[in-house]
Amino acid sequence: MKILSDYHVHTSFSGDCNIPPETMIQRAIDRGIRHLCLTDHMDYDYEESGVCFEFDPKEYFRRLLVMKEQFADQIDLAIGVELGLQPYLSKKHHNLVFSNPFDFVLGSIHLVHSRDPFFSSYFEGRSEQEAFLEYFECILQNLQAYSNFDVFGHLDYVVRYGPNKNRNYSCHTYRELLDEILRALIKKDIGLEVNTGGYKYGLKAPNPCPEIICRYRELGGRIITLGSDTHVPDYLAYEFDRAAELLKACGFRSYFIFHNRKAEEIGFA
Ligand SMILES: [Zn+2]
Ligand SMILES: [Zn+2]
Repeated sequence: MKILSDYHVHTSFSGDCNIPPETMIQRAIDRGIRHLCLTDHMDYDYEESGVCFEFDPKEYFRRLLVMKEQFADQIDLAIGVELGLQPYLSKKHHNLVFSNPFDFVLGSIHLVHSRDPFFSSYFEGRSEQEAFLEYFECILQNLQAYSNFDVFGHLDYVVRYGPNKNRNYSCHTYRELLDEILRALIKKDIGLEVNTGGYKYGLKAPNPCPEIICRYRELGGRIITLGSDTHVPDYLAYEFDRAAELLKACGFRSYFIFHNRKAEEIGFA
């Protein structure tokens, strides 16, 4: 069974990627991907590295809508965004999402109180457990502040970057909090992303970890998207076969794509 839908892909509209969208789309077509969603970064107030993680929505749609037409008989291109959540940005996010015709809005957390776990300073002066806990607490704060997005991205992103990566990480340590997060997502009809970037970071697991994915299902979650989170064409749909096996083992019978922010189910063959 092949999953031919990659719903987390960056292009040169993202501050940390220099692959033009045309190139990424063409490579996705060459790889046999049928449904591709470009999810460029929109992280307002990202001041950690000097890189700007914002794009001009007018220019984004102007160019991508042309490509959507141009490649229409070869690939189903969805225009998405990876929204960098921070609780105080809810009004700004509301305006962005309502004034642009996104097919798909992926909500992600990169900044916890203005600090990105990508940088080792996030972990300094405290235990990994405390650093992980702060990230998970921040998810709940964000969900309370703003939840008009379709799927929540890389739920345990923080473990990619810990000093020991996921070697000392057990999601059971945070079980109550994680259950609260998963229940909130389900109640708000927000899906869960299986982000295979985790495999690339050497975790031997996607983000979130398999236990969280299975728990989402156990609690009644149904909406799953798959995303490679790639910034280069070679990693399109990376380890999707492995992720599909995991999903089936957790009891999922389908995954989802989105058009005009409506979820469409694709059954596992
Ligand atoms: Zn992200
Ligand atoms: Zn991303």
